[in-house]
Amino acid sequence: MTPFNRNFGQGRNTKAVRLDMNWKELTKAGNIYEPGNAATYETGDWRTIRPVWNKDRCIHCLICWRYCPDASIISTDGKFDSFDYKHCKGCGICASVCPVHAIDMFSEDEIDRREEARKNEE
Ligand code: SF4
Ligand code: SF4
Repeated sequence: MTPFNRNFGQGRNTKAVRLDMNWKELTKAGNIYEPGNAATYETGDWRTIRPVWNKDRCIHCLICWRYCPDASIISTDGKFDSFDYKHCKGCGICASVCPVHAIDMFSEDEIDRREEARKNEE
């Protein structure tokens, strides 16, 4: 049997956890049979709070880019460009180090609720 990994991503030798599976399909003692890495797993799945950029405040110092532990801030031509939400884990370091408070952290649930409400209004 191919062992399951608790991560929602899919490794070379493991299958992703499914919403309809139960504990009997997990590996014995929760063993992990292969190392994970950001190329294989979209670590942004773990995030519960999301950084949101305020372009009007940003002075493009790229201090956030330097400090992000997940290389999830994309810069283009020496300027802040966007977040890589597929890998950003929502640690909030970028928001903490930004000297002009151009990054705010919002709960993913709150963002989902707002998007749902906006769609319902359309
Ligand atoms: S640290 Fe703040 S001001 Fe500097 S590039 Fe990042 S968001 Fe912009
Ligand atoms: S929240 Fe953390 S992982 Fe996401 S962009 Fe900011 S510093 Fe990087």
